[in-house]
Amino acid sequence: METGTQYICSYCGTIGQPVKYTPGSIWIEILLWCMFIIPGVIYSVWRLASKTKVCPVCKKDTMIPLETPLGQKIYREMYLDMQKK
Ligand SMILES: [Zn+2]
Repeated sequence: METGTQYICSYCGTIGQPVKYTPGSIWIEILLWCMFIIPGVIYSVWRLASKTKVCPVCKKDTMIPLETPLGQKIYREMYLDMQKK
């Protein structure tokens, strides 16, 4: 992951670094692995496939790099327009 790139959340407007989020629970994974192997494998694959980067504040998968045109647009709408009023 490159450092220095700032991200903006299109949902809540937070600027910063997204955090890694893995859905599900490690305890369910361990339990499934101990009791049944096949669901354990499926659960592990699903968790890895669903691993995503989310906003540190609202935990939504809506972080956009600030340097992109869409990131700039959201930044303007969230911060600059607010200051005008
Ligand atoms: Zn957010």
